[in-house]
Amino acid sequence: MKLYALNVNRVPQVSFSWKLDGTAGQKSYHLVVKDDDQQLFWDSGVVFSSKRHNIPCEKELQPHHIYTWSVTVTDTAEEVQEAAGEPFFSGIYEWQASWLEPDRTRKPLTDKTTPTHGVIEQKDPLTILDPAVCMRKTFSLDKLPEKALLYASARGIYTLCINGKRVSDLFAPGVTSYARRIEYQCYDVAPCLTQGENVISAVLADGWFTGKIGAVGIGMQYGTENALIFQLDLKQDGQWRSICSDDTVKFADSAWKYADLFIGSGYEEASEQKGWESPGFDDSDWKNAVVKNYSYEQLSLQTIAPIREARSIRPAVLQAPNGDLLLDAGETIVGYVSFRLHLKKGDVVTLEHTEVLDAEGNYMVNIVGQNKNQTDTFWCNTDGLHEWTPEFTWHGFRYVRVKGVPVIDPEAFEIHVIHTPMARTGSFRCSDERLNRLQENILRSQEGNMIGIPTDCPQREKTGWTGDMQVYAPTACYEMDVENFVRHWLQDMENEQLPDGQIPHIIPYIPSHDIMKPAWIDGVSAAGWSDACVIVPWRLYEFYGDKQILKDNYRMMDRYMASLKARVAAQPADCESTGEHMQYIWNNDFQYGDWLMPSAVKSGLQGPAMMKLTGFEAATLMYVYTNRLMERICRVLEKPEEAEEYKETAQKTCDAFLKEFGNEDGTLKKDFQGLYVLALAMEAIPESKRDNAVNRLAELVHSNGDCLDTGFLSIPFLLPVLHDNGQADLANTLLFQEKSPSWLYEVACGATTLWESWDAIDENGNPKDYSMNHFAFGCVGEYLFKYIAGIRNAGTAFDRVRIEPDFRCGLSFVDAEYDSIYGKIAVNWDLSGDKKEITIILPPDVQGMAVIEGKEYPLKSGPFCLEW
Ligand code: BGC
Repeated sequence: MKLYALNVNRVPQVSFSWKLDGTAGQKSYHLVVKDDDQQLFWDSGVVFSSKRHNIPCEKELQPHHIYTWSVTVTDTAEEVQEAAGEPFFSGIYEWQASWLEPDRTRKPLTDKTTPTHGVIEQKDPLTILDPAVCMRKTFSLDKLPEKALLYASARGIYTLCINGKRVSDLFAPGVTSYARRIEYQCYDVAPCLTQGENVISAVLADGWFTGKIGAVGIGMQYGTENALIFQLDLKQDGQWRSICSDDTVKFADSAWKYADLFIGSGYEEASEQKGWESPGFDDSDWKNAVVKNYSYEQLSLQTIAPIREARSIRPAVLQAPNGDLLLDAGETIVGYVSFRLHLKKGDVVTLEHTEVLDAEGNYMVNIVGQNKNQTDTFWCNTDGLHEWTPEFTWHGFRYVRVKGVPVIDPEAFEIHVIHTPMARTGSFRCSDERLNRLQENILRSQEGNMIGIPTDCPQREKTGWTGDMQVYAPTACYEMDVENFVRHWLQDMENEQLPDGQIPHIIPYIPSHDIMKPAWIDGVSAAGWSDACVIVPWRLYEFYGDKQILKDNYRMMDRYMASLKARVAAQPADCESTGEHMQYIWNNDFQYGDWLMPSAVKSGLQGPAMMKLTGFEAATLMYVYTNRLMERICRVLEKPEEAEEYKETAQKTCDAFLKEFGNEDGTLKKDFQGLYVLALAMEAIPESKRDNAVNRLAELVHSNGDCLDTGFLSIPFLLPVLHDNGQADLANTLLFQEKSPSWLYEVACGATTLWESWDAIDENGNPKDYSMNHFAFGCVGEYLFKYIAGIRNAGTAFDRVRIEPDFRCGLSFVDAEYDSIYGKIAVNWDLSGDKKEITIILPPDVQGMAVIEGKEYPLKSGPFCLEW
């Protein structure tokens, strides 16, 4: 046996998980938590159980501690092993510190408050943004403390140093539903303190709080000024005392003339105040910060990993045909570029970021809209070597246009890729390099779109669009351990739920988003987006098997379904159909429908027209879906009556759908691939007529040149529906299709991430102004793991598996792995030799069935090999 202790899960409470290797199961575990004085804090005793995921700590944590934990496991072969997990903070229990704001007048908000699509001229950031501010507090220590814990948060984003040594991570405190929660961070700063004078210093920038955020790029969404709070708790001679942010804190403008998440950062060397972060600096001409009585109520300890640098890339240097100097990261990434350059006083270096070059190879802007500059600027004031890293901003890019430097030494630049760290759980390699590239692209898009929250794209919007995550959730779970991260986001979703139960399309909510809503719509619900509040928790439950996920989100789901029931039942004034069944047709609210369906995009359909095309049909089918999932959720939570009710509503909705939108023979009035896919996936078409629907779907695919024409809502089900209905060959034709629209068309165009739209680069090589980094269509990843490699969940959280690979898909080998909560499930099949062979390895306490060429083979923990 080999035992791995994993990170502590903190959502919603502290719990511990570990994994085992080998074949023997877990007979018992014994968890021990100690405090930082090495005193025993909690002891689970020996528990005879094979459970090893999210075992809750049964004792309430005490303030001011850094806990450590370890687990001892005895396996069924009586082997004993111990492993230690990572230390974790308990958090603060009583704030004594004050919220502080700089005493200044900010530039008035001049952002356009109507939707700004298409290319627009960007304003000079110096005219619309304010400098980030420096704050400093000095204090003296006669002797070094035994313990020192620094807690901090901001309305805005902050960096923190003690005596010039950086202690904070990136983009703290992160983005959450600010009206309800702002997270704070805890740092163990004992090693940074010295005897005598000490300085806590911070730079406070706009971040999400006052920055130009979201699709519409409007600032000051949560307030008009940034604020900081920090509290340093010190233990000396057994006594705790606090050094707090208060009115003795001094502030001044920083050298960051502006620092905006979307626009970029601008740094003026001439405004630098040398030594301001260290003791001994004269701050007598700085002003005192102003104490604000913002409540502490929203403050809660950050429960996801902080944003960090994932890796760095040395870019290649190119000269564009038009003479521009360009850096090429070699892949579309999310982060920023630092430099080390010999500069002269007066030099101005600008770094402009884009994801794509035009057909000639020149710089072009693919991210458009208000305040989407993605440009960083350094104003140099001295001759000599300069090292500079833009802060408080990140960009989505592959290419950087560098201005202000005549010759570029590639060694002078470094690209920093950022992410919220999460363990990789999936790997997929096969005999077709194009699919391998697709899998890498999926991972890269996931990495770039999971920065604090799951986002649609990392450049234009950086927004928690619920539909995108809903569509992508199963693939996300195969690829990485996203449980804690997504549960954290679901808490924000619940925070943002409207009093009547509706769920907004974006979480956290951005008030200015409302301007995108058509005036004639009263509610905020949209099928496939708001539905994420039911779909995402269920997906997490399938992968992580923790009922608590469903319990934690039940209130939100239940309230949502109640609001939905009323909304679906209400008929719009212009509704022409009548009849009892109409109360099950979701024909109101704003509907994106099968959003971005390729043929609709091609014909230039937008807004209401796009919505009319598939909106109500798709919405009604999504209503079947959420009711079906609620039935399953209620069964897990042992709510049989509710489960029956949902079952009944799902059935009535299917009947209503067929009556309103179906033909007698099982085909549909509107002949769209996506509607067939959804109708089949939701089992809305009776068994006896299914074949007709499947055949019609196949015909539609064929008549579209064997290409998909499915949008956001249907695409996750497209290949599975075909595969499960006797059309595996057609599913694989679509998977391996290289004509647009297809996954491998993007790969053939050199994509390194998933695109927002299939024709983000057209057949003539002309890029359009779409995001090149949207994970939504990466939902095909689930198909690679589940159908091609054949790693299927046949129980809960893969405690039972069905390994059913698709040997006929055209690949000669596949080597895939999914690291489930029980441990690694590996499948390796190879058809290239004289004999076909497969090796399957299951982790302890997992069993199942392999289906190979139609024959079933029982599986148990450990390896299984077969040649045929
Ligand atoms: C986003 C999407 C999102 C959509 C809603 C777009 O601007 O980038 O991914 O789901 O709006 O239709």
